[in-house]
Amino acid sequence: MASPSSDNDDDNDNITDVTETHKAVQEEEKDIAKRKAPVYAFFNAKPEIEFAKAGHTEYLVYSCANCSTMVKQGLKMADKGSTGNMNNHARRCRGEETFAAVKGSTLDKA
Ligand SMILES: [Zn+2]
Repeated sequence: MASPSSDNDDDNDNITDVTETHKAVQEEEKDIAKRKAPVYAFFNAKPEIEFAKAGHTEYLVYSCANCSTMVKQGLKMADKGSTGNMNNHARRCRGEETFAAVKGSTLDKA
């Protein structure tokens, strides 16, 4: 039952590909710079990037500017860039009034 394997498709590339990861980070950072939703004002401007594996970004992790709670924003879901989690946290953390005021200040464009 010797089946000579002709293809060289073994798992011999288990070295972390730093180049791919670096590229992925740059892509996300370009995206981050474009985000203008008012809710980002509640969080530190520079999120951390979490990886599923090298070169594959999975989450942006924002820390709340008020209480330092980490709030993850998924990058793999259909609602990439969704601020749902962040809205929920900001509302709880800062209170409905402050939250509404900040959201309302730039609500001319939905
Ligand atoms: Zn908070």
